[in-house]
Amino acid sequence: MRLRYNYRLYPDDSQCQALARLFGCVRVVWNDALAMRKAARKAGLPWIGGGDLQKICITAAKRTLEREWLSEVSPVPLQQSLRDLDRAYQNFFDSVSGKRKGRRMGLPVFKSRRDRRQSARFTRNAFSLGGDGTLYLAKIGGIEVRWSRELPAAPSSVTVIQDAAGRYFASFVIEVEDAGQVLPEVDGEVGIDLGLTHYAVLSDGTKIANPRWLRRRAKRLARLQRTLSRKQKGSKNREKARIAVARQHAKVGDARRDFLHQTSTSIIRENQTVVIEDLAVRGLTRGRLAKSVSDASWAAFRTLLGGKAARFGRMVITVGRWFPSSQLCPCCGWQNGKVPLEVREWDCPSCGEHHDRDLAAALNVLAEGIRLRAQAAEASLDEGGQDKEMVAAGLADTENDCGGRVRPGEAIPTLAPPATYDAHAA
Ligand SMILES: [Zn+2]
Repeated sequence: MRLRYNYRLYPDDSQCQALARLFGCVRVVWNDALAMRKAARKAGLPWIGGGDLQKICITAAKRTLEREWLSEVSPVPLQQSLRDLDRAYQNFFDSVSGKRKGRRMGLPVFKSRRDRRQSARFTRNAFSLGGDGTLYLAKIGGIEVRWSRELPAAPSSVTVIQDAAGRYFASFVIEVEDAGQVLPEVDGEVGIDLGLTHYAVLSDGTKIANPRWLRRRAKRLARLQRTLSRKQKGSKNREKARIAVARQHAKVGDARRDFLHQTSTSIIRENQTVVIEDLAVRGLTRGRLAKSVSDASWAAFRTLLGGKAARFGRMVITVGRWFPSSQLCPCCGWQNGKVPLEVREWDCPSCGEHHDRDLAAALNVLAEGIRLRAQAAEASLDEGGQDKEMVAAGLADTENDCGGRVRPGEAIPTLAPPATYDAHAA
């Protein structure tokens, strides 16, 4: 499994210039290669393979007058840029053919100097870690790193990133053996109800407050945005205002990431089985609740839970989105009609039990998850008594009659961004 470890970088002035030049070269190679493939397609010519692309857009280009500056930077990030382009095309093709699940991927697009995020990736042969804690990059030199936590193993690559707020980061990829990380088994089983009043309510009664980061900072952000819109295009002051806005956004992002990591880690540590609803998050983000929902970033939270479960040997069970979690009485199973959002508490007309809406939902989600797990185990007996987990794994992507899915954690597909263990130094 691949994990990412991120650290803040502090390049000096000349290194900042060298990095800016490198980002520019990486972008030019990407754009040249993309333009060539687009032109070839338009002219009905055959597909240009990765090897040929490298010869044309890097090796041959360096010998031309208008691209000779490509030789001023390390060739490794340029080659990686072409590999990224190939991957982008592959994702698009797989998405079209249905091989790749999830959101439909578009064709790769041209990169711009004005993009919010600039990056360049170095593989093993083009970077090294000095004993003094500096990160040495080919043709750039030793950059100061804020090591907020230790790297568990030698990284296989490092991506140098400049974000919209002008900050630099190093994102190391580490290959780890899944088995070595498995935590001792615990008895805990928990159902999670994600909501807006609380970020999450757990079936054990824990209520995790909604941090509403964006809301809290919205006023300040709005003021900065107004300042930005008043500045003249292309002016120095406009650039300053843009950076202020970007910094504010970056702060919100950091706070959100920290919160999601802390919350998901503690849930995974304390529980062997975690049951969560498969909410149609993508649908919700377009509705009236859009702002609160994307603020809550449930999708990212579920991805983190899945990644950590896979890593630590826990099981995440996803309950189908049509399961009426907020309509059932967890005591007697009586089904209410649709309960309006503003109803926070209710009494079961059948058994008389008094329920907190979110807690009841979490309990129902847990019960449904346990039912799905038992169903998977039974299916395993029918198939000759294989190991429970094996069958659960086999069911990973097959929807059962309730539309639920049982899986022992979600392994991280190599195409998706690896689980991120952020360590942003302020
Ligand atoms: Zn009841």
